[in-house]
Amino acid sequence: MTLAPDLPENTLAPQIHSIFAKGTGKESVRIIPLGGLEEFGMNMMCYECGGERIVVDCGAMFPDADMLGVDLVIPDVSSLLDEPEKLKAIVLTHAHEDHIGALPYILPSLPVPIYGSAFTLAFLKAKLEEYDLADQTDLVEMEYRKSYSVGKNFEIRAIHVTHSIPGAAAISIRTPAGVIIHTGDYKIDHAPLSGDHFDFTTLAQQGEEGVLALVADSTNSDVPGSTHTERWVKRHLEPIFSESPRALFCTMFSTSVYRMQVMMDLAEQHDRYIFVAGRSMERTIGIASELGYLRVPRDRMRTVREVESIPPHRRFILAAGSQAEPLSSMSRIALGAHKQLKIEAGDAVIMSARIIPGHLRPISRMMNHLFKRGVRVYDSTSYKVHASGHAYREEMKTLISIVRPKYLLPAHGELRQLHMHRELAIGMGYDPDSIFMLQDGDVLEMNNKRARIVDKVHTGHVLVDGKTVGETGEVVLRDRQHLSEDGMLIAILNVDAKTGELLNDPEIVTRGFIYVDESEDLINELRDLVRDAFEGFPSETREDQDVLNAELRRVLKRHIRKNYERFPLILPVVQEL
Ligand SMILES: [Zn+2]
Repeated sequence: MTLAPDLPENTLAPQIHSIFAKGTGKESVRIIPLGGLEEFGMNMMCYECGGERIVVDCGAMFPDADMLGVDLVIPDVSSLLDEPEKLKAIVLTHAHEDHIGALPYILPSLPVPIYGSAFTLAFLKAKLEEYDLADQTDLVEMEYRKSYSVGKNFEIRAIHVTHSIPGAAAISIRTPAGVIIHTGDYKIDHAPLSGDHFDFTTLAQQGEEGVLALVADSTNSDVPGSTHTERWVKRHLEPIFSESPRALFCTMFSTSVYRMQVMMDLAEQHDRYIFVAGRSMERTIGIASELGYLRVPRDRMRTVREVESIPPHRRFILAAGSQAEPLSSMSRIALGAHKQLKIEAGDAVIMSARIIPGHLRPISRMMNHLFKRGVRVYDSTSYKVHASGHAYREEMKTLISIVRPKYLLPAHGELRQLHMHRELAIGMGYDPDSIFMLQDGDVLEMNNKRARIVDKVHTGHVLVDGKTVGETGEVVLRDRQHLSEDGMLIAILNVDAKTGELLNDPEIVTRGFIYVDESEDLINELRDLVRDAFEGFPSETREDQDVLNAELRRVLKRHIRKNYERFPLILPVVQEL
């Protein structure tokens, strides 16, 4: 049984040819995930109809702690580059990194117009400016509910959904073969802080008209019930603010504007001064307050340089680095390695974010460092200090029942979550044959009569080394070809397991990036650099492998780029003997 009504005939082009005779003719639409399925991050979905394509989202993925020498992972888009003229636009659902993070790397080879909400584009613009790409990129602001024609075959519309960042949208994609709703990330918050409600009306109207396919967020398909709201988080944070005797630190995703509002309001109510650590955090505050999405209590804001002038019990510090990224402000604070911000016994840290898969280890380590210092830690597993931005099962059911698609495509999740999403729909009476579990690269061709996987295109991961927020310099793609061009450098440090001191001088091994004549001097120079850097690190930095590796890479990378303009892959190896 399929719950969906049959689509009205006028949403279909005349059936003159057999359905698959022309491949991507107007009779059918193709859906091709280029990233984001069976993995966390890197969301990118291609829609093809009548020989034209649009792409929804263009996200990046953060490397696992054990992916050395890599700052970012982006989707391989070679399948789009084969016929670049087919791509008419990239449409963005919202401004999270896993939805827009790959754009600076992909736009130079696919310079198409980018559609998104005002907030999403403001965020993207700031990002593109860092890469000198803002001026040459055509940004088209989408008003909610308004239709925009793209190419000859697509009409797109942004439908407001609630999420952890303002300006989020589900995208309705009208094609001659039918309408597709691509949710992006969403939750159904009935009491949004901003007052901008989830647009049930438009989704329900579209459902009534007929929806060929729903491509929907699966992140929390294994969590029963409904998500909590920001107001709920605020209620549970209240006692932490009123009872903390000393400095209060808080880390969260640097794009969580609503959570920031909650924190700033509480800091103000509890007579604390607000310090912001981390450029990504500052950037969000700047954009969100300028667009009216964040009310910043200006008289409460202080710079981190002024921290000593405020007594600890009146400090509230917002620090970037909720995933314990090794060079982030929060990680440095926890290790006692931050220049201005010191954390001491009796202080408290609120970790107001979920743990992204793959980051459990560094986060546990960071928490251990904090406990060792006598700091109280309120993490989101043990305390009610975080609410997810992704729908739980009951919300997912609500969405399916108002959109009533003919086909359902679970998206945005690992295999387990995609499966649970499928089971949920089957439990609602959906025919298992109308639910498609796609993998990256699958080409699903569908129309009102049938849907099936007809092809597979090349997909993959491209590793990026170089440009992270706050850094300047060129970007290096770490594929095989670039590796052979840029060469590599390995720094081996033998450390006494008992004392934590170097047992001998670091060893430097290079492959293919230095000129033979200068090599001996350069190797001596790099050896001194590594030794001096190591000896200058606080003992806690030295003891934390992830942080130590990241710090050593940073020092070497900066030195080599500045003095030699080379971009080798840098791998520190620390052996405890
Ligand atoms: Zn998101």
